[in-house]
Amino acid sequence: MLDYLGDLRRTQMCGALRASDAGKKAVLMGWVNRRRDHGNLLFIDLRDRTGVTQVVLNAERDAAIHEKAGTLRNEYVIAVTGTVKLREANTVNANMPTGEVELVAEELRILNESKLPPFLPSDTALTNEETRLKYRYIDLRRDVMQFNIETRHKVAKAIRDYLSAQGFFEIETPFMTRSTPEGARDYLVPSRVQPGTFYALPQSPQMFKQILMISGFDKYFQIVRCFRDEDLRADRQPEFTQIDLEMSYPQPERVWEVVEGFLTAAFAAAGSAIKTPFPRMDYDEAIRLYGIDKPDLRLPAFTDVRECFSPENLQQLAVTTNLPMVAIRIPKVGDLSRAERDSIKPMLVAKGGAKVFEDFKRIEKNFPDAAVKISAKSAAEAGDLIVIVAGSAQTGEQTALPPHRKVTPSELAIYASAGILRLALAQKYGDRHGLFKKSGDPAKDFRFVWVTNFPMFEWDEGEKSWMAAHHPFTSPHEEDMKLLETGVDSVNDPQSSLSAVRALAYDVVLNGTELGSGSIRIHRQDVQSRIFRALGMTDEEARDRFGFFLEALEYGTPPHGGIALGLDRIVMILTGAESLREVIPFPKTARAVDLMVDAPTPVGEKQLRELGIAVKKA
Ligand code: ASP
Repeated sequence: MLDYLGDLRRTQMCGALRASDAGKKAVLMGWVNRRRDHGNLLFIDLRDRTGVTQVVLNAERDAAIHEKAGTLRNEYVIAVTGTVKLREANTVNANMPTGEVELVAEELRILNESKLPPFLPSDTALTNEETRLKYRYIDLRRDVMQFNIETRHKVAKAIRDYLSAQGFFEIETPFMTRSTPEGARDYLVPSRVQPGTFYALPQSPQMFKQILMISGFDKYFQIVRCFRDEDLRADRQPEFTQIDLEMSYPQPERVWEVVEGFLTAAFAAAGSAIKTPFPRMDYDEAIRLYGIDKPDLRLPAFTDVRECFSPENLQQLAVTTNLPMVAIRIPKVGDLSRAERDSIKPMLVAKGGAKVFEDFKRIEKNFPDAAVKISAKSAAEAGDLIVIVAGSAQTGEQTALPPHRKVTPSELAIYASAGILRLALAQKYGDRHGLFKKSGDPAKDFRFVWVTNFPMFEWDEGEKSWMAAHHPFTSPHEEDMKLLETGVDSVNDPQSSLSAVRALAYDVVLNGTELGSGSIRIHRQDVQSRIFRALGMTDEEARDRFGFFLEALEYGTPPHGGIALGLDRIVMILTGAESLREVIPFPKTARAVDLMVDAPTPVGEKQLRELGIAVKKA
């Protein structure tokens, strides 16, 4: 039954035939997407990665070929030679690019048969994800997946082309290396040659790219796999791809310009013209206006409404005057039912004594002056939902305002509570305000923003110590250096001046999603050592973990800085996909399992012995 390809050459792709090809000979190869049997007429939808063409087999023209076609089943691989013909006017299919033509078969070769797959690429209803991942090769045949992977290719290529044209070199860095401090757990690779020792897969090429600056490659990039062993949240993958970049002598603005350039190229490759430069916002401002360091600019910012109330009003509301009082506005929500209104309070994730006033009608009734001022200040229109978040009067004394910082930890708690509620309400009423729907206007659909001047350190409540908010190679602001050493205990004191140190760090954010983070780096060994000390590392510990790096810093390190952006996430946004797994050809599940190859697996005794490893029975 199977025929060999033999002398046949493919002359056309299935998705490429058009009316102008009518009368021409064509050879198409691909999969049987669907077969329709109309007695003497048999129709095959033949599919390859470019699309589908209808093939006609007519028993009256050629009984043998018609009969052979009768044996075809879904997903058989065939070659058809024939003549392209215009379809009858009443059978033209305007919904498909090849819908004006069909191929009248003159020769049919069956190149391979197929078992009946567990689901068909042509199915309109999606099968469950586990089956899709187990039979990923079938799943990838679906046109949506082909589109996603094609977009991924185009985006990566546009980025490579853009950066190459700007003088960047793509340079590879090792996968078998040692731990990098990105804050996640490492994947380890045991060494056979040196039993008991391990390589770590890189969480990022951070130290290597910095060493490339020390090595004189002043513009580096790499589209590179990174590995982080984290408890997987919905939108994480244990291995993911970064657009990693580093350059010598840049001001932050230079890095931003390069990123804006390659994102423009990437979005253009996917059909969207975005505008640069992106707006820029201080971390403190992002917190004050949006309650989060990755603001979604598609929704209105908070309005500070404390001044709209008189001191007596605030007392009546049992609200502290020391903490922020902000109005969240969600446009066009319309009247809420009692149940809908009651559901708002439980949505508040209250931090630091935050409380919510969800019934604006009651504010209007009890504090009419304040309500008028709030509506005006927040530019509310009829039908907009207004919810107010404030600090309860019972909240204790707030911490002193550290120098340079505009937002104190107690204020942050209120803003953050409001920020979470703002997003939850916006999600819930998405259908009503419609701001998350694509409008076709890239200026509205893609709201980029640079968030800058992040705090250098973050207090880790669990560990009771300060951690690097970005990573420990990030440079603090020159003027904040003096805050680094404030006595031996600063490391374990949440109130220490470390809280006020700002970093030369920046994030690029799109529609409330962090696309990437970067920073200007420390290029002096003495400063690097001070940061390690501030993080509670002794000089010995620092030498032990990063000795090679500290040493390299002593050999003429140019000032440098860079960034890394998540490629998977960018492609996900550009394709409108629902999860990262839709844009990664062979992804892992939320439990870090590859269902197709069935990894991870136990390994044999012999292999373990060679590695000097014993596995404890659970
Ligand atoms: N290595 C950092 C990260 O992976 C990015 C950077 O600082 O360039 O998040």
